[in-house]
Amino acid sequence: MNSLAFKILSYSFILSINSILFSACSEVDSNATKVDINESNSTPITLVIHGGAGEIKPGFLSEEQEIEYKNKIEEALNAGYKVLSDGGNSTDAVLASIRIMEDSPLFNAGKGAVLNHEGVVSMDASIMRGSDLNAGAITGIMHIKNPILLARLVMDSSKHVFLSGDGAEEFAANYGLETEENDYFIIPRRLQQLKNRLGSDTLHLSYDKLALGDKYGTVGCVAIDVNGNISAGTSTGGMVNKQWGRIGDSPMIGAGTFADNKSCGISATGHGEYFIRLSIARNIADLIKYKGLSIQDAAHEVIQNQLGDLGGSGGIIGIDNKGNYCFEFNTPGMYRGFIQEGKEAEVSFYGK
Ligand code: ASP
Repeated sequence: MNSLAFKILSYSFILSINSILFSACSEVDSNATKVDINESNSTPITLVIHGGAGEIKPGFLSEEQEIEYKNKIEEALNAGYKVLSDGGNSTDAVLASIRIMEDSPLFNAGKGAVLNHEGVVSMDASIMRGSDLNAGAITGIMHIKNPILLARLVMDSSKHVFLSGDGAEEFAANYGLETEENDYFIIPRRLQQLKNRLGSDTLHLSYDKLALGDKYGTVGCVAIDVNGNISAGTSTGGMVNKQWGRIGDSPMIGAGTFADNKSCGISATGHGEYFIRLSIARNIADLIKYKGLSIQDAAHEVIQNQLGDLGGSGGIIGIDNKGNYCFEFNTPGMYRGFIQEGKEAEVSFYGK
């Protein structure tokens, strides 16, 4: 497939179609995900990404903003897809996509991440490889330009899975990862957002109730490569106004990120406390592995029933080991996109 083949379907057409279709799994291309791709012999290389879920409704973004988000998500999709189509592995593809979103101020990861109660950016990230179940995660990172690269280093170059704060940054220094002053990550929009929160009673979690335009802007990516290996990664600044060293689900293997070649890869975005309590990513994988559910049914059960019943909000993206992909969220929208060998790539924002 021509990896730059975002053609034929115009952007407004895709958006309007997706405002009509309900947001359950496979909304990006609901017909496509109902097809069991495994009917053919080889698994198609596939990559899905998200840029957060929330009160994202038609009319909230200006036309220029929609184009800005669409372009950046396409750029991230294409970067990861290029790795896959050149025969590269899914971990490198996930890194390529997430780095682009971390470098963009549009999302809550890397530059443009949300501010904590102290007015600084403190970032979390994780990555997992489905072929050997190895994983790397970091939390409380304040100076590493691309936290997802540090998560990968923890996975591949340490004996550990989860490193935090100064220790994690000390570990990073051994490998010469690019660093930035904390100011680099802070953008005016986030400063204003924190000021608004500090003026209210919501000193703990800002998203107890989402207002129009509020979103969990975490970024994530899942990919399956030519060898059928799945990787998943997630990167975030966490939640606005977080305090007391609060850690969300994004860096927690099994909650915000999970990958197992025997089932699927998942990356989540949402109110982390609920995602931790329900082990959302692992929970979906287990329903596939032990109960034989399809990725669509497993994700629907966990997000619409379990998460919904508990009062939590957010969503996931996923790919199973046959290349079936899935988008599931219980918020009005989720920034998302997919690209797959032999299919049109698509970017969508809205659900119902
Ligand atoms: N899940 C993240 C957290 O709770 C927030 C997000 O998805 O934006 O830290």
